[in-house]
Amino acid sequence: MTNENRQPVMAGNWKMNVNHLEAIAYMNKMAFSLVDADYARTEVVIFPPFTDLRSVQTIVDADHLSITYGAQDISAHEAGAYTGEVSGSMLKKLKAKYALIGHSERRAHHNESDELVNAKVKAAIKSDLIPMIAVGETLDIRQSGNAIEHTLSQVTGALKDVRSNYVDESVIAYEPVWAIGTGEVATPQDAQDMSLAIREKISKLYNQEVADKVRILYGGSVKAGNVKTIMEQPDVDGALVGGAALDPDEFLRIIRWPDQP
Ligand code: PEP
Repeated sequence: MTNENRQPVMAGNWKMNVNHLEAIAYMNKMAFSLVDADYARTEVVIFPPFTDLRSVQTIVDADHLSITYGAQDISAHEAGAYTGEVSGSMLKKLKAKYALIGHSERRAHHNESDELVNAKVKAAIKSDLIPMIAVGETLDIRQSGNAIEHTLSQVTGALKDVRSNYVDESVIAYEPVWAIGTGEVATPQDAQDMSLAIREKISKLYNQEVADKVRILYGGSVKAGNVKTIMEQPDVDGALVGGAALDPDEFLRIIRWPDQP
């Protein structure tokens, strides 16, 4: 992380964990622990389940916290007969900043295609939410030597017909599927190689200025013990953290990555 134009991001994805009462306790702990220097260095983002968003918003608003938050998914539709879906405008009303789109668990368990991911990216932008787009290869694809090609095609698919002024504030999270929740971490060099390849792809799809602004995160079994070497890579601008973000103390250590071993 060397580019001073890109503020590092540490994002915690709670997945289907933490009820709204537990969310209040978690947020209070963050509010109590984080200081101005933490916020100045790193953007802290929480992705709670939909049912917790109102509780998170209430604490962030009441205590004027600089923590940002988003939804773990978003409907591709604006409104209407889509039982179970949550629209971008509903999320915006809760003052969400981000929508996490294309997480590998949604691609795998809900058959989300690149086309649907692209539609959700556009839905987020339409509601003035910033898309955080997750991409990454399975173990089979990595072993066949096609990890970069596959991941870049997901990037291209997600950004189809998206204008450059929306892309430069978007966030791409490179999450090798084989590293998510498994304890297996990509090497810092793997994270760097893929992040650079993604940046170069965005430069080709748009231009170098856009590529220099896009923040690219690594995700996959990030913990306090491995975050620092990952963050030392010049094209890695932060981390998307699942399991380790469920423990606020561990997530705080990750947010304070320069102090870690
Ligand atoms: C994730 O859910 O995006 C993730 C990276 O999970 P974990 O940190 O548990 O591997």
